[in-house]
Amino acid sequence: RQKERVCIIGSGNWGSSVAKIIGENVQKHADMFEPIVNQWVFEEQYQGRPLTEVINTTHENPKYLPGIRLADTIHAEPDLIKACQDCTVLVFVLPHQFVRGVCDDLAGSIKPSVKAISLVKGLEIKPDRITLFSEEIGRRLQIDQVAALSGANIADEVARENFCESTIGSRSEAAGQLFYHLFDTPYFRVNVIPDYVGVELCGALKNVVAMAAGISDGLDYGSNTKAALIRLGLMEMRKFGQTFFGGVEDATFFESCGVADLITTCSGGRNRKVAEAFARTGKPIDVLEKELLNGQKLQGSLTAVEIHHFLAPRGMTKEFPLFDTVYRIIYEGAPLDTVVKL
Ligand code: NAD
Ligand code: 13P
Repeated sequence: RQKERVCIIGSGNWGSSVAKIIGENVQKHADMFEPIVNQWVFEEQYQGRPLTEVINTTHENPKYLPGIRLADTIHAEPDLIKACQDCTVLVFVLPHQFVRGVCDDLAGSIKPSVKAISLVKGLEIKPDRITLFSEEIGRRLQIDQVAALSGANIADEVARENFCESTIGSRSEAAGQLFYHLFDTPYFRVNVIPDYVGVELCGALKNVVAMAAGISDGLDYGSNTKAALIRLGLMEMRKFGQTFFGGVEDATFFESCGVADLITTCSGGRNRKVAEAFARTGKPIDVLEKELLNGQKLQGSLTAVEIHHFLAPRGMTKEFPLFDTVYRIIYEGAPLDTVVKL
């Protein structure tokens, strides 16, 4: 059969970490995949040289994943259309605010038979509707096979090959198996389930809960409080799924993308870290994002605003008190301790 040719769209912290996995797996499954993998890189200068040139010569992305070697067969490409040309598999791994623009640039140049997977943790929220990125990518690119991968996967730890698990949600069993082979390794163990809605919702909403956990840490409230916020957040995630997506399968919360991702994000993630700094310093969140993350992006604060703008006109903010409180603390100056007055 014809081998799949893969393009990774994105090259941040997680994009680089999955490039390492994919670079290894296309060699391991050489019967299924072409060895060369393109990676679209949002071009920027790194120490006076284009980042793509640095990646292609050093086989490392020193800006977003320093100290980790990528396979020599990963080819960084600044031109999006060129990167995706002739590829049969697209891996979307971008901060959610950039997916729309990238899809608009790609629309019209992708064959309908192309298969895609979204590793994006966020939702496309418009005043009139909320959509999953797998659906949004499918609609914008006119392709019908789009799966999702999400899990308890702090990128730096995955890149160091510390054991973890992840979840792929795929409507199609065949696509699920293809992506399983692209991602599964002994240190990154993948489980494929049909509930792609649950996989994506968990990945997006846990980022808001992590902001609450960070605020709690900034107030030195301790482990019990954080555990309570995680539990309340989980209930709110489930309610959000029931209210707007006809429900997430309960079993999905027991997968890596569910409770496990909540736990890891609320202990070791960037959203937690920046929210803690917000509580301790009072600096605006976007200032802290720049100061602390070196170009990496927060997803939780943006998702909190987007959810607020969707819920407020419907008079529904009080039905999701934790999401709403995070929004009000970060953007409306509500007192920090309202995080525990839900
Ligand atoms: P990142 O936050 O580390 O880096 C930001 C990326 O955005 C960089 O590659 C930068 O070049 C790019 N960028 C900046 N401006 C852009 C623009 N205008 N258009 C397109 N790209 C632009 O990225 P990441 O960690 O790879 O995150 C991608 C997704 O993966 C997010 O949804 C995130 O939640 C999710 N995720 C991250 C981790 C993690 O530990 N980092 C783990 C799992 C999932
Ligand atoms: P942060 O974006 O908060 O670092 O979370 C990373 C993640 O999604 C871990 O699974």
